[in-house]
Amino acid sequence: MSGLALNNVTKEFGTFTAVNNVALTVPHGTFVCMLGPSGCGKTTLLRMIAGLELPSAGTISLDGEDITQVPTHKRNLGMVFQSLALFPHLTVGENIAYPLRIRGAAKEDQVKRVADLLAMVHLGGYADRPVAKLSGGQRQRVAIARALAISPKLFLLDEPLSALDAQLREAMQVELRQLQQKLGITTIVVTHDQREAMTMADTVIVMKGGEIRQAAPPIEIYRRPADSFVADFIGSTNLIAAEADSAGRVSVLGQAVPGISLGSGMKTATLSVRPEDVHLTAPGDGALSGTVTFVRDLGGTIETFVDMSGQRIVAVSTPRARPQVTVGQPVGVVLQPDVCVVLAK
Ligand code: ATP
Repeated sequence: MSGLALNNVTKEFGTFTAVNNVALTVPHGTFVCMLGPSGCGKTTLLRMIAGLELPSAGTISLDGEDITQVPTHKRNLGMVFQSLALFPHLTVGENIAYPLRIRGAAKEDQVKRVADLLAMVHLGGYADRPVAKLSGGQRQRVAIARALAISPKLFLLDEPLSALDAQLREAMQVELRQLQQKLGITTIVVTHDQREAMTMADTVIVMKGGEIRQAAPPIEIYRRPADSFVADFIGSTNLIAAEADSAGRVSVLGQAVPGISLGSGMKTATLSVRPEDVHLTAPGDGALSGTVTFVRDLGGTIETFVDMSGQRIVAVSTPRARPQVTVGQPVGVVLQPDVCVVLAK
């Protein structure tokens, strides 16, 4: 297969398993974001792909070649880490040319390549500027250009945008994705920012405790989470305990919900319902009953908190569709079967 393959990769530090039996294929040209809570093993996995850590078990192959034992500098990688590691005493051009220079590229080829790379990251004309005199976003672009200078097979980035302010980070996410699509380079990014992952990735990998919980396109992760952890970690959701009686009729919090099935043989489950899919209505008419406890108007969206038998359900709407409710008011909560994702408990 053309691309990267991790075959049952495990990393142990002493008795602690940081990455546990991870199997993953990343087809050539795809953009993958690894996401998960702190300590879940994202960086360790990336470092093994980079050759900076050796797996305790399993193998890593690139374009069909086993690279598990191949040292970092022979893997043909471009890497950008949070710290960027630019040389502060060199100019922008010298920084970008550095990997070319140590590979012995001719001076005129270096100059041409630097000019092309600078144009690509929207820094044309900056070659002679000292890196110390650049803004955070510009430094980021220089680090990306330097990593791409050798036309790597694999582009690895660890929290590359986390030092930037929110606005610049969002702009750079779009730029990075556009650049990756233009170059068609296989790219793996570690991030803790789910919006970043949703913006850039073809495939989002959600990790927990050293294991992959789900690997899928971003919208599938959002709409069809594999389990409660993924559902709760990506975006916000309402997780509601559901149970089925012997005839398969489903109820939540003691109230019947027609039209939902838990799947064969399942007596209990958790329903994941996104706040934007919770519809509030007048009480009765077969809707579940609840009481409004709080309304949060965030300008662009309005969140309505509803208490249903002790469980808080959050409904989100746009200002145009604002439910006309006040705190303390009884409401009906409609959970359409097609928006309820049934998850094993
Ligand atoms: P974060 O988002 O906080 O960077 P992460 O998902 O990238 O977290 P890793 O850095 O991969 O997590 O670490 C995974 C686990 O392995 C953590 O519990 C960490 O303490 C442990 N770990 C990482 N490197 C080592 C090491 N060299 N020796 C011992 N334990 C380590």
